[in-house]
Amino acid sequence: MDFLPIFVNVKGRLCLVVGGGEVAHRKASVLLDAGAVVKAVAPEFSGAFAGFPGIECIAEHFQHSHLEGAALVIAATDDSAVNQDVSQQARARSIPVNVVDNPDLCTFIIPSIMDRSPLMVAFSSGGASPVLARMLRGKLESMIPQGYGRLTAFCARLRDTVKARITNPPMRRIFWENVLEGAIAEKVLVGDEAGAEAMLLGQLENENAKQCGEVYLVGAGPGDPDLLTFRALRLMQKADVVVYDNLVSKPIVEMTRRDATRIFVGKKRGNHTMAQEEINELLVRLSKEGKRVLRLKGGDPFIFGRGGEEIETLAEHGILFQIVPGITAASGVSTYAGIPLTHRDFAQSCIFVTGHLKDGSMNLDWDALARPNQTIVVYMGLHGLETLCAELVGHGLPGNTPAAIVQQGTLQNQRVITGTLATLPNIAQTEKLQAPTLIIIGGVVTLREKLAWFNPDKSEASAGELSGGQSA
Ligand code: SAH
Repeated sequence: MDFLPIFVNVKGRLCLVVGGGEVAHRKASVLLDAGAVVKAVAPEFSGAFAGFPGIECIAEHFQHSHLEGAALVIAATDDSAVNQDVSQQARARSIPVNVVDNPDLCTFIIPSIMDRSPLMVAFSSGGASPVLARMLRGKLESMIPQGYGRLTAFCARLRDTVKARITNPPMRRIFWENVLEGAIAEKVLVGDEAGAEAMLLGQLENENAKQCGEVYLVGAGPGDPDLLTFRALRLMQKADVVVYDNLVSKPIVEMTRRDATRIFVGKKRGNHTMAQEEINELLVRLSKEGKRVLRLKGGDPFIFGRGGEEIETLAEHGILFQIVPGITAASGVSTYAGIPLTHRDFAQSCIFVTGHLKDGSMNLDWDALARPNQTIVVYMGLHGLETLCAELVGHGLPGNTPAAIVQQGTLQNQRVITGTLATLPNIAQTEKLQAPTLIIIGGVVTLREKLAWFNPDKSEASAGELSGGQSA
């Protein structure tokens, strides 16, 4: 260990920054954030300093007297002689000194910080590779939500209450672990601190009460795991049971906790492995057993996902739940196909519909759909494609309106076929398409010629398979 990590209290103490450029300004800002009284010395100051309240700017060359009374000093000039002088003089006075990008002249270094105040995490490579330290911080930033600051403060507030009630330290540790792993922490993270506090106090009263479970209804996006949200990933790694269907890609299912029970509830077209009511009941039963249940759905749970129905049942049973939006197919799939859904020259509006056939017909507002300068995105539309195209033309859209079908968008098996309302049904017949497929109709489809950017490597096709592996 080359440096001892410590956190220094500089509140109300004088800290000196030597330098007037952007880097000096950045350092001065961090000191200000930590509550220091900041003095900056430089012959000239960059625009960043101007109009920045709280920093006393002294427009002079550095003199040794500037160090008087300083609790610490940072040198950030581009003049190595000055940096050297600051370092030497500070050491002579036992003032901790940092010279930016010059570990040899430092008695302390400034880490890359992840601020979830009061929770602070510092990363340092001891000056060996600040970029690496920042990259590591980036990775952790995604795993530790912003709300952790609030969570830490919540724990601080209730610490004494818990301590008074549970006097046995190991028991207290287990109690806190349960709080931080379970529904109480989740309540704080979604902003319901009052609810969280009531629940914590309730559990303190009845310490042996069984932990109640909860359900996370999470949108997994259209398939590429990189399109998951931070919150989705966090809950995926927390849940005891995972209930998923065949729109969720295999690599995403693999990212759930290794020891979690995984339940496939299918839902292929016309072949429901489990009826919707059974899924609703399953979620209720599992959470009543005290489990943390992840209901993982393709795309966004509230867009043609029946997420609303599942949540209604949970709400009726008083079960805790939270809902995490996902990137819906219209957004993710069109983007990976290089088709912007709106564009000033082609479409000022965009409409999402389901093309699911009921008794052989589609119950859609054709007049609203067959409008110029509008993009139509059709979910579940492949089987009704012929009806769809015929109705749109029948209601006034030109037969040469561009249209595309995207198969398994965002995944390694992505294919995009384009045509027009007049030609697409025939093209679709001859191509062997694999579900899921999304249909995009409108002038924006022509932009793909210029904007196609995602060209999956077919040799890796198996990596992107969907969990159900159904055919269209
Ligand atoms: N809740 C989901 C949609 C469920 S309906 C969402 O927000 O995306 C299922 C339909 O979504 C499929 O029939 C298909 O039309 C579309 N879909 C979902 N993922 C897709 C993908 N990766 N590629 C193409 N279409 C997709």
